[in-house]
Amino acid sequence: MGFCLSVGRYLVVSLLIITMTMSVSWASSHHEEPAKEHHVSHGSAKKGKPSPDEAIKMLQQGNKRFVTGESHHPHMDSARIIQAGREDQGDHAYATVITCSDSRVPVELIFDAGIMDIFVIRVAGNVVDVDEAGSIEYGLSHVNTPVLVVLGHTQCGAVTAVTAAMTGHGHALECNIPPLVDNIQPAVQKSLDEYPGAPTRDIIRFAIEENVWQGIRELFMRSPSTRELVKNGQAKVVGAIYNVGTGKVKWLPEDKTFSILKDVEASPEKTNATAVH
Ligand SMILES: [Zn+2]
Repeated sequence: MGFCLSVGRYLVVSLLIITMTMSVSWASSHHEEPAKEHHVSHGSAKKGKPSPDEAIKMLQQGNKRFVTGESHHPHMDSARIIQAGREDQGDHAYATVITCSDSRVPVELIFDAGIMDIFVIRVAGNVVDVDEAGSIEYGLSHVNTPVLVVLGHTQCGAVTAVTAAMTGHGHALECNIPPLVDNIQPAVQKSLDEYPGAPTRDIIRFAIEENVWQGIRELFMRSPSTRELVKNGQAKVVGAIYNVGTGKVKWLPEDKTFSILKDVEASPEKTNATAVH
């Protein structure tokens, strides 16, 4: 453990030194300030940010470039690093994305985005529990991103493990995993109820999509501020599924988000507390 920590520290320090060296050498050869970016502002967009629909389009176009091998790899140079150190990410990042920790889902790459473009939350099974909801609230209300994507993915190991456990094929789990994956159980249960007798691989496929809707429902239940942002048009919440075998993001119907929001608004169990100061 001590060895791992010291190696980890060495790596972090080395990376910092490399980054600082790059910044200093760039700054000494470029005396002008990095150009500020100007986004087109429409509708309820904040601080010169793209509107929710424009931000979704940016993500869709980025994924298209990624899939077709035409990525631009934007905002990855030393100028962007210097800019990131000097400016507020809240003036730049255009999306919040919550997705799985799975190594096959590298968020910035699949949307052909770079530094200070996407506020990312990653957790096994892209579940929305209290810490994740808080991180999303930060992304929407403080980083001012006009869109939140709840991004599930094909072949999700977390959804597969929960399905196995609920169909009697599970095995013992480490002590912190059950409280993590309990958020996925309602999604698997819904799939088992709706498709009785379906092959396990189909149950998992349905449950992966249900788990996205479950995450959106949990978020709305927990977060009055997110409900307000969506109701007044300042932000959109969209569900999507990333295919780990093709690189394609499948966008789920936006109408469903609004019908979930409507259900949650009618629920006496939703959280109503306002912002804590
Ligand atoms: Zn996963």
